[in-house]
Amino acid sequence: MTKLTRRSFGLLAGAGAASLAMPFYARAAGKPRAVVIGGGAGGATAARYLAKDGGDDLDVTLIEANSTYTTCFFSNLYIGGYRSYESITHSYDKLASNYGITVVNGMAAMVDRDAKEVIMADGSKVPYDRLVVAPGIDLIYESVQGYSEEAAQIMPHSWKAGPQTQLLKSKLDALENGQNIVMVAPPNPYRCPPGPYERVSMFAHVLNEKGFTDSKIFVIDPKPKFSKQALFQEGWNKHYAGMIEWYGPDVHGGIVGVDPSTGEVETDLDTFQGDLVNVIPAQKAGMIAQKAGLTNDSGFCPIDPKSMRSQNDENIFVIGDACIAGDMPKSGFSANSQAKVAAMAIRGDLTGSRVFPAKYSNTCWSLIETNDGVKVGAQYAPTDEKIASTSKFISQTGEDTALRQRTYEESVGWYNGITADIFGA
Ligand SMILES: Cc1cc2nc3c(=O)[nH]c(=O)nc-3n(C[C@H](O)[C@H](O)[C@H](O)COP(=O)(O)OP(=O)(O)OC[C@H]3O[C@@H](n4cnc5c(N)ncnc54)[C@H](O)[C@@H]3O)c2cc1C
Repeated sequence: MTKLTRRSFGLLAGAGAASLAMPFYARAAGKPRAVVIGGGAGGATAARYLAKDGGDDLDVTLIEANSTYTTCFFSNLYIGGYRSYESITHSYDKLASNYGITVVNGMAAMVDRDAKEVIMADGSKVPYDRLVVAPGIDLIYESVQGYSEEAAQIMPHSWKAGPQTQLLKSKLDALENGQNIVMVAPPNPYRCPPGPYERVSMFAHVLNEKGFTDSKIFVIDPKPKFSKQALFQEGWNKHYAGMIEWYGPDVHGGIVGVDPSTGEVETDLDTFQGDLVNVIPAQKAGMIAQKAGLTNDSGFCPIDPKSMRSQNDENIFVIGDACIAGDMPKSGFSANSQAKVAAMAIRGDLTGSRVFPAKYSNTCWSLIETNDGVKVGAQYAPTDEKIASTSKFISQTGEDTALRQRTYEESVGWYNGITADIFGA
């Protein structure tokens, strides 16, 4: 059910009971309306920057399906026992109270691009002058034979943070010495390229802490190589020798399918049996992006690299995991960076404020073992074709422990900073 907070409720309170049944979010005294679908890393940042920098000139509405947001970033650290679930869960209260954003708690079901209205699942309508679409990803369950939404209750993906993350952790914590984990890693493109391998490190950390030296972790990967591979494999050898076996397609020959009733993952080479099986399937843009006609054949949304404006609709901007961002990985940092470019362009459209050339940045930190942090990152600028990287950096193998500890501490500072930037401090 759509739940209203603060301004939206105030606007509707005078409108009478009949319209409360199917509200139409009234335009606030002639101000241009910026509406955002999706209150994640991208969408909540866009809403906050629109409200913060747009001041009294803009009416900003954020539509979000859930009442709180649990970050995927640092969810691996929750799985590893370094963070509590509460510490990675955030509320939308400050966006409403400190920035005057109308937060609509409900599911956007459709976008009527001709009428410039978002149609909510309960039939209510949210009109816009400019719309930001930031729904993140949807999982393509059927990309792995035998996998489904129901199977995810037995073989969790935990690639959207929330109950799935808690389920994965409870299954990990219930393992006994000698029991094995199998991960089916995702094909490109997917959210958070180093994420599966940080997760493997956290699995190993938990097993190692308990002295479960008879347990093994098998990673069945559809990709021949993966992000920060040399750094992860060096760390796995150093901290978890003999515990993790990674198989690329040239070894396993192809993933045939999974069987949730037996915990088996079948490949051309062999069948792997897991007491815990973590299946991360292929991904596409969140459903609303497809329904709004913003995706192309790739399942993601083409955008103008200079502004994040949809190539399919000049009134709509697509940011975060749902968009095709050229050289930028699908990450929370990227989504946050893209949101600021989109918010600036929208303010330019709606209030005539100055629009500066777009610049983007990203860093992805990963924890391999306690105080052993590594990172990869880049700066980006738009070209006519894509968002292109202009400079890059990556941690090196063989770095000393003090540097690795500083890198980890940097990631904690980043987490605190970015969540304040997304949800307000
Ligand atoms: C295990 C893991 C670890 C990660 N670690 C990192 C990391 O260390 N650093 C990093 O930068 N990134 C990391 N990421 C990636 C990061 O979480 C995503 O890239 C980021 O969340 C994308 O932001 P987004 O706004 O596009 O989507 P999301 O953050 O997923 O937000 C989308 C929001 O839209 C809402 N929504 C969707 N459809 C609708 C609808 N129709 N109506 C209303 N609401 C809707 C959803 O409920 C959700 O809240 C990690 C990801 C995973 C899985």
